Amino acid sequence: MSKFTRRNFLKAGVAAAAAGTSLSYGSFAIGGSSKKVVIVGGGIGGATAAKYIRMMDSSVDVTVIEANKNYYTCFMSNEVLSGERTLDSIKFGYSGLSKHGVNVVNDVVTGIDADKRVVKTAGGDSFSYDRCIVAPGVDFKWDAIEGYDAKIAENTPHAWKAGPQTATLRSQLEAMKDGGSFIVVPPTNPFRCPPGPYERVAQVAHYFTKHKPKSSIIILDPKKKFSKFGLFNAGWAKHYGYDPKNPTGDGMIKWINNEAGGIVESYDAATKTVSADAGNFKGDVVNIIPPQKAGKIAFAAGLTNDKGWCPVNGKTFESTIHKNIHVVGDSSVAAPMPKSGYAANSEAKVCAAAVVALLKGGSVPTPAYVNTCYSIIAPGDGISVAMVYKYDEAAGKIIKVKGSGGLTPGKFDPVLREREVEYAYSWFNNITSDVFN
Ligand SMILES: Cc1cc2nc3c(=O)[nH]c(=O)nc-3n(C[C@H](O)[C@H](O)[C@H](O)COP(=O)(O)OP(=O)(O)OC[C@H]3O[C@@H](n4cnc5c(N)ncnc54)[C@H](O)[C@@H]3O)c2cc1C
Repeated sequence: MSKFTRRNFLKAGVAAAAAGTSLSYGSFAIGGSSKKVVIVGGGIGGATAAKYIRMMDSSVDVTVIEANKNYYTCFMSNEVLSGERTLDSIKFGYSGLSKHGVNVVNDVVTGIDADKRVVKTAGGDSFSYDRCIVAPGVDFKWDAIEGYDAKIAENTPHAWKAGPQTATLRSQLEAMKDGGSFIVVPPTNPFRCPPGPYERVAQVAHYFTKHKPKSSIIILDPKKKFSKFGLFNAGWAKHYGYDPKNPTGDGMIKWINNEAGGIVESYDAATKTVSADAGNFKGDVVNIIPPQKAGKIAFAAGLTNDKGWCPVNGKTFESTIHKNIHVVGDSSVAAPMPKSGYAANSEAKVCAAAVVALLKGGSVPTPAYVNTCYSIIAPGDGISVAMVYKYDEAAGKIIKVKGSGGLTPGKFDPVLREREVEYAYSWFNNITSDVFN
């Protein structure tokens, strides 16, 4: 019989953590004495929270339940559409989280019992928790556009969750004839990544300019303005012949806003025809990005308000509906922060610090948050918007820090624009390493 040495004890701890038991390595706590955090969703918010809780307090037993084996970042997925990068370059696995002692379970969460503090999965498992963090990203309002639903989206992809749909949309663009038309339907506010549809237009225009210069892009937009509006207008004009004074003119890009009839009513998948107030538009490739709401599990768990998002206390990200459950990332109501990956990452760190403090019975620190969103309009031409936020104790909400943040200057400076692209790539490398390594 072998002696139970400290080395063997540690080995047993790692094995037990991997098997999801309450024996937690790092804490030397056995049989239920360590605190348990169960995280629903291993995307940007969920994976960040998991890693940072373990880094802040390795005695906490952290389990992430994630539906997919690999995660594809939405950020930089527009560059996959233009052929500037591969799908593999935005693919990340979970071995990094395991190295931090996080128990990663590949399953779909089907329910959360807030009274019993138990998370249930499609695989039939139950996970008890002291605190639960829900980070399921977004779901789509499938009833918003008649004729467009989850089944139709397999062939007319929204590609608003990166992965197989990104690949489908890319291959449709590649197969499209020169002179074809690409229709983009951005969603109503609020939605994941406010500048995303317009960066997508720029990236596809870049691809068309290089390979299919006779092609056109028609944007049927339910809005009158969008994120980084002036910068996108100027960028589309500089690179793709767009005329901001005549947005529905003859250039490669036509932007039809709500006042010009851009509100879409229905879609006929058989003929690839989009019906909007301005008339019927037949596309060769169609990209409908439906209006959004919190991830499905947030509804099943009763965490949503009447607008379909999850109200939270901005200091802890604890749900204002169910105690001991926190919601971070796109599903949460964290305005004035946008629904972005950087925001989800920042919220998850704030939430991790709050959860660790609350598990110890300590007081929660007053947080600050950050967001920067880069968009690449063309090779060597990047733009960004940045903002710092803080929690206002008196007002009990998240506010913008006056004088912080900024926007790329409107006057075109090639050196600065090239640097913005370098910053964008550097940000991508840093955040994916921060979340998954
Ligand atoms: C085209 C595009 C470009 C973008 N560019 C940028 C950018 O440049 N910068 C930026 O900051 N942001 C960008 N974003 C936004 C960013 O991707 C999201 O805001 C971010 O991913 C939100 O993180 P999250 O954790 O809330 O959701 P996600 O990252 O989507 O993670 C949710 C995870 O939960 C899992 N899940 C859901 N339900 C369950 C369940 N029931 N059981 C188990 N697992 C479940 C999902 O599989 C998923 O892995 C972009 C988005 C798009 C679409």
